[in-house]
Amino acid sequence: MAWDFSTEPEFEEQLAWMREFVRAEIWPLETVFHELRQDEVDRVYAPLQAQVKARGLWAAHLDPELGGQGFGQVKLGLMHEILGSSPFAPNAFGCQAPDSGNSEILALAGTEEQKERYLHPLLAGDLKSAFSMTEPDTAGSDPTLLKTRAVKDGDGWVLNGHKWFSSNASIADFLIVMAVTDPDARSHQRASMFLVPVDTPGVRILRDVATMEHPEEAYGKLGGHAEIKYEDVRLPADALLGGEGEGFLIAQHRLGPGRIHHCMRWLGVSARAFDMLCERAQSRYAHGSLLADKQTVQNWIADSAAQMHAARLMTLHAAWVMDTQGASAARREISLIKFFGAGVMHDVIDRALQAHGSLGYSTDMPLEAMYRYARGARFYDGPDEVHRQSVARQVLRGYEAPAEGAPPSEHLPTNRAAAREKFAHLLEAVTSND
Ligand SMILES: Cc1cc2nc3c(=O)[nH]c(=O)nc-3n(C[C@H](O)[C@H](O)[C@H](O)COP(=O)(O)OP(=O)(O)OC[C@H]3O[C@@H](n4cnc5c(N)ncnc54)[C@H](O)[C@@H]3O)c2cc1C
Repeated sequence: MAWDFSTEPEFEEQLAWMREFVRAEIWPLETVFHELRQDEVDRVYAPLQAQVKARGLWAAHLDPELGGQGFGQVKLGLMHEILGSSPFAPNAFGCQAPDSGNSEILALAGTEEQKERYLHPLLAGDLKSAFSMTEPDTAGSDPTLLKTRAVKDGDGWVLNGHKWFSSNASIADFLIVMAVTDPDARSHQRASMFLVPVDTPGVRILRDVATMEHPEEAYGKLGGHAEIKYEDVRLPADALLGGEGEGFLIAQHRLGPGRIHHCMRWLGVSARAFDMLCERAQSRYAHGSLLADKQTVQNWIADSAAQMHAARLMTLHAAWVMDTQGASAARREISLIKFFGAGVMHDVIDRALQAHGSLGYSTDMPLEAMYRYARGARFYDGPDEVHRQSVARQVLRGYEAPAEGAPPSEHLPTNRAAAREKFAHLLEAVTSND
């Protein structure tokens, strides 16, 4: 099978522009964002977003008829690798999670009215959104256990439930909420999605949960993860997104591209940590030599380079399968890179932090924040264990147990006896002269 990840020279130029733009305009802002209120952050972004739009790189994940660039996953992979180097870059390019995934859902399942009301302003950057599925009291890794309920009431619905880790909900204008609409249906047909403006009576955004990534209590800032109570929230019939019972089906469409975009961004995080590791190795002197001359540090550099190269090829390959055969054909590739990429990012940052000693552990370097960010990647959008299980199940479908009582197919004594029988004449002929 031929693989082709090549891109045209014009796109290479765009990548070079993005590389320079993110380094020159976004990296420096990282150091002051925490001092700004959300409305100030929005004002800082506005001229940057204008430059990105002028360059034709805005909302590149969507098709041109929706105002995107229709890049496809391979080009998006190369682009996200650059944007991933900073948690603040995707927002300047209109492709930040969760808005990017939510716009994909709206494009896929929204009615014309829903697209008009939510999708177009979302793409223009005039609205912000959140995806509200995970609940504190049920296992997010098994969404068939969801408890949040939407019950039919006349033409509309009444929503009740408790969610948390709804990223960006405290700055969002609307939420996409996953709720059980038919508890008696088959497990993957019980839930539906609803479009819920945040100012709907009964929506109570309680707090942004302080996390490893953002340990300080804060509310209403980009990147927060909100806890929300939905209490007798009355929704009109047209709040339903997609068909009744189609929540999981639509979520699957969202999660495929969303997961691979995460993996692409992690390549950028890993590369930035790797650069810090190598720079430090060239400058820190201890026990008679530079760190760069110590074999352990050389092993870290070589292992990191090999892991990152593998992760990059696996990610681009998954992207290429998605582009050429569709998201469902790439399920195995996406699961492989989801857990592998999360591990690579963690390992590379860990080595870079170690090489910096107390400086790496301090907040004077971005490494400790990158390390905390990387930890979540091993379970959000599906824990490592679930992706491994999924890969193993798919792989095992290609294997059968030996017939009852039969030895393993590679059992040497059995195979030797069979070979002696099969080649008896030949063996006799070649050994008869001895
Ligand atoms: C930074 C961040 C952003 C997030 N953003 C959102 C968002 O925008 N919207 C949203 O709805 N949710 C969001 N989440 C929630 C995230 O999707 C859930 O944390 C994730 O689905 C796991 O669910 P859980 O936390 O309930 O863990 P659980 O489901 O309770 O799993 C806990 C652990 O159990 C183990 N486990 C589970 N299943 C298996 C298995 N089959 N085999 C072996 N071990 C297993 C794993 O070790 C797993 O880590 C976010 C989370 C984080 C950290």
